Amino acid sequence: MDPIRIAVVGVGKIARDQHLPAIAGTPAFSLAATVSPHDPGQEGIPHLASLEELLEKGPAIDAVALCTPPQVRYGLAVQALKRGIHVFLEKPPGATLSEVVALRDRADKVGVTLFASWHSRFAAGVAPARAWLAERRIEKVSIVWREDVRVWHPGQAWIWEPGGLGVFDPGINALSILTHILPRPVFLKAATLSIPVNRAAPIAADLNMCDSGGAEIHMDLDWRQTGPQSWDIIVETDAGTLKLSQGGAVLTTPTGTEHNEDLEYPGLYSRFANLIRGGRSDVDIDPFRLVADAFLRGRREPVEAFHD
Ligand code: NAP
Repeated sequence: MDPIRIAVVGVGKIARDQHLPAIAGTPAFSLAATVSPHDPGQEGIPHLASLEELLEKGPAIDAVALCTPPQVRYGLAVQALKRGIHVFLEKPPGATLSEVVALRDRADKVGVTLFASWHSRFAAGVAPARAWLAERRIEKVSIVWREDVRVWHPGQAWIWEPGGLGVFDPGINALSILTHILPRPVFLKAATLSIPVNRAAPIAADLNMCDSGGAEIHMDLDWRQTGPQSWDIIVETDAGTLKLSQGGAVLTTPTGTEHNEDLEYPGLYSRFANLIRGGRSDVDIDPFRLVADAFLRGRREPVEAFHD
């Protein structure tokens, strides 16, 4: 079977750190081109300044991975889907819920694969956590996602703009795990969004949610953390406590701790290849909907200005 010819669109931090190595390590794909307005690209690989230019001039491609900021993703995805090109969306899948639903409907109509990826769901501890929780009664959940924005997102202006999500850019990773491992649907009850007076997006947020069985779920999200960073989810159940730490990589249950190799992006590309070969899409908007609900129902609290 010929490899799927893929172009990476948006050669920024995540494309370099994860997408390009994962594509190189997945025989189902061959890297056909890269696209980015300012980046010079990689030696030996055709590089274009825009997707439009790539679609006009070639080389021919079967798929694109959209690794741009979310605000421009819808327009790029439409250009690809119109040409029958399969689309991998980095998280979050867009800037609004309605544009993601429109993309999903368009992909279904033209019979092309659309994959709204959630990389944290492919962290090593997540699948076993989901299996362990499937049989348990969930009593309480606590999420602590605290990191230093200056370390992880230096100079990323888009992240502070409308549609950039602010602290929900990492926070949505926790929500993607939460909505995957809990056996029942989750919904938001109340939220506080702390927004720097010179920015459009929150630097911190406090969310109260619950599942449809009534279990309380609390989430503490903060970008002002210096020193040790926390990406932890603790689930209390009738059979003891489950903890996912280091963003889902490490799983602790009453029987012990497992720490397996990080294969998030290879896992995503293997899933994308299977979806394409099987003529299917995978677009789960649940994590994004919780973020939208926090913006819809949250109380906004102005906080000290933030400067990079
Ligand atoms: P980034 O470093 O700012 O990179 C974004 C890239 O997109 C830049 O190279 C930019 O090009 C390019 N771009 C912007 N508009 C474009 C367009 N219209 N066409 C083609 N390229 C365009 O951002 P990032 O950290 O990689 O994040 C990108 C996405 O990945 C976000 O949705 C983020 O949530 C997600 N993500 C990031 C991480 C992470 O650790 N950083 C982890 C997982 C997921 P120029 O600079 O040349 O203008």
